[in-house]
Amino acid sequence: RQPLITAKDLTCHFPVRAGILAPKKVVRAVDGIDFTIAKGETLGVVGESGCGKSTTARLLIGLVPITGGKIIYDGQELNADLSLRDLRRGVQMVFQDSFASLNPRMTIEETIAFGPKVNGVPQAEALAIARDLLDRIGLDPARFAGRYPHELSGGQRQRVNIGRALAMRPRLLILDEAVSALDKSVEAQVLNLLEDLRRDFDLTYMFISHDLNVVRFISDRLMVMYLGEVVEVGPAEALYHKQAHPYTAALFSAMPSMDPDARTQVPPLAGDPPNPIDPPSGCRFHTRCPLAKSVCSSLKPRAITLNEGHQVACHLHDPASGYEEVAA
Ligand code: SF4
Ligand code: MG
Repeated sequence: RQPLITAKDLTCHFPVRAGILAPKKVVRAVDGIDFTIAKGETLGVVGESGCGKSTTARLLIGLVPITGGKIIYDGQELNADLSLRDLRRGVQMVFQDSFASLNPRMTIEETIAFGPKVNGVPQAEALAIARDLLDRIGLDPARFAGRYPHELSGGQRQRVNIGRALAMRPRLLILDEAVSALDKSVEAQVLNLLEDLRRDFDLTYMFISHDLNVVRFISDRLMVMYLGEVVEVGPAEALYHKQAHPYTAALFSAMPSMDPDARTQVPPLAGDPPNPIDPPSGCRFHTRCPLAKSVCSSLKPRAITLNEGHQVACHLHDPASGYEEVAA
C-alpha cells in the first residue's frame, strides 16, 4: 500500500526555562524519527506519557513547528506555507472527551457544520452535511440535531467530536486518547463505529492510546516510542505475541489481560522515564532496561529489520553492536 504519511528524521525541539534567570534548555519532545502510515491502515502509537506520541500527532496537524526533518503527505512535503492549508485540512484530530472540546452555546448540528461553513460551504449545505454525519455517527438527526453538549453523554459527545472532524473530509484522522475517558461498554461501541467509518470514508488512522488492549483491537501496526524516539514498529498481532524491544516487552508485561504464554520474560516498568531535556546517552532506555550491558550506555542502537515490516532499535538484535561480546 502507498504511504499517506512519510516522516523523515522528524524532530520537534522546544526551549524551556525553569525561571526567568535560569538558562534556556531544550526539550527533545520528538528527536529524529522515521515512520510511514499507509493509506487505509491504522497505526497504533504507544508509550508512556512524555514519550512524544502526542507531539508527533501535533506535528502532523501543524499545531507545533517542525524543527528538523520533514513530513511528506501523499507525496507533498508539509511546511508552514499557507498555500498548503488545503492539504492540512486532510489531517484532523480527535482528543480525549471533555466538555471543553465543544462550544456549550452551539447545538451539535451547528458544531459539525461549523468547519465546512468557515471554509466557505454555504449554510444550508453545511447543515445538510452535519445531518448526514449525525446519521453516520449513530445520532438520529431528528432527535439530536438541536441538542447542546450538556444534554449529551460522554460517548455521544465523543461521537460529535468525530463527526466534526469528518465534516472536514479528512484522509488521516488522528485519535489521541479519543476513547480513554469512556466507560468500557461505550468505548467498545465507539471503537466499532470508528472501524465502520474507516471503511465507509476510506480513512487512515493514527491511534494513540495508553491502553494496549484497545490499541491491539484497532491497529494494523504498532509504533512504540520512548523519550522522543521510535524503539520498535511492527504488525500489531506479531508485537502482541512477541515483543523484540525490552521496553515494548515491559509495557506489554504490565497489561492486565495479557495471555501468560504471550508474555516476554521482562518485568513491568518501575519508576518514570528520564527527563527529555537531558536524555540518557546511548540507548535512552538503558537506565531502566533489565537487559542493559555496557555498550548500551555508550552506543546509540540503530534500527534493525527483523522481519518484513518489523523494526527494532536495540543492540540485543544487532549482531554488529558487540552486545554479545560485552560482559553485563
Ligand atoms: Fe536494553 Fe541495551 Fe536494548 Fe537498550 S540497547 S533496550 S539498554 S538491551
Ligand atoms: Mg499525550
